[in-house]
Amino acid sequence: MRMRATLMYGAGDVRVETVPDASLIEPTDALVTVTRACICGSDLWPFKKMEHSDTGRRMGHEAIGVVGAVGADVRSVKIGDLVVMPFAYSDGTCVFCHEGLHTSCVHGGFFGTEDTDGAQAEAVRVPQADGTLVVLPVSEDDALMPSLLTLSDVMGTGHHAAVAAKVGPGKTAAVIGDGAVGLCGVIAAKRLGAGQIIILGRHPDRIALAREFGATDVVSERGDEAVERVRELTDGYGVHSVLECVGLEQSELTAIEIARPGGAVGRVGVPQDETMPASQQAFFNNINVSGGPAPVRAYIEELLPDITEGRIEPGRVFDRVIGLDEVPDGYRAMNDREAIKVMVKP
Ligand SMILES: [Zn+2]
Repeated sequence: MRMRATLMYGAGDVRVETVPDASLIEPTDALVTVTRACICGSDLWPFKKMEHSDTGRRMGHEAIGVVGAVGADVRSVKIGDLVVMPFAYSDGTCVFCHEGLHTSCVHGGFFGTEDTDGAQAEAVRVPQADGTLVVLPVSEDDALMPSLLTLSDVMGTGHHAAVAAKVGPGKTAAVIGDGAVGLCGVIAAKRLGAGQIIILGRHPDRIALAREFGATDVVSERGDEAVERVRELTDGYGVHSVLECVGLEQSELTAIEIARPGGAVGRVGVPQDETMPASQQAFFNNINVSGGPAPVRAYIEELLPDITEGRIEPGRVFDRVIGLDEVPDGYRAMNDREAIKVMVKP
């Protein structure tokens, strides 16, 4: 038996190929047959600029699937369980996992890297299965599947941005970026009680969804004009909380500039530059700049009931569903902004 999986060989070069079957390596591993995967905004960074690789990189870090095999030491999941995997694996027992920072797990790592194969495939090996996987209390074809799939990454990441930006009841918040993470950031900001939620974005379909998710104001300008507009909307002060969901120099700069003195910026857009802009402005305004790779594993138990009980519907960010063979075109569609987020049913 050989399975199909997605490999990226360089910028714009995504292929679905037959590869050796995923298999157990460590006694703490589980094998998961992927029933739902997706393409991430962060997959678009290598899609834009990855250097050519002769061997290719296995892609994908978000999935729901059915456990097909477990190693001898695995206790919390069994064959046949429907599970969601966070984009990072973690043991759940080390000092950082206990502090809720699973992305810094001392035995952890990330899917879709040189070390660990990706989930845009028919099956994936999940290291540290006990700490990583969460069993879902629904059936495989449940209508909630798109929303549950966002627990792998985008909903947990949007929530992390809101937590890092210290969103709280009655506070003002701004979300920079109208991709899937930004849209989930709107859901998270509303969920945590923000009174005013300003979305900074310019794609009409995404803005419309942001409004349905709870955005109260829209700023489609960029740079200085965007900063001016946000100030106008907030009595001239700026917002308490900024969710930075892009990672480009311009968006990081805008984030600092629209935060009010004493405010906080939660960064979840993977920074594309080594340095952070507006260091002096952040200093003189006492702005708390926080964030990083979201420990989405830490948030699944908290967010899951909101999805199963229908209070939030982050799965609406998926606006295209494709099969595994269409994954290369899925990358193109997301990169061309034709699709917000693409779901893959292998
Ligand atoms: Zn750990």
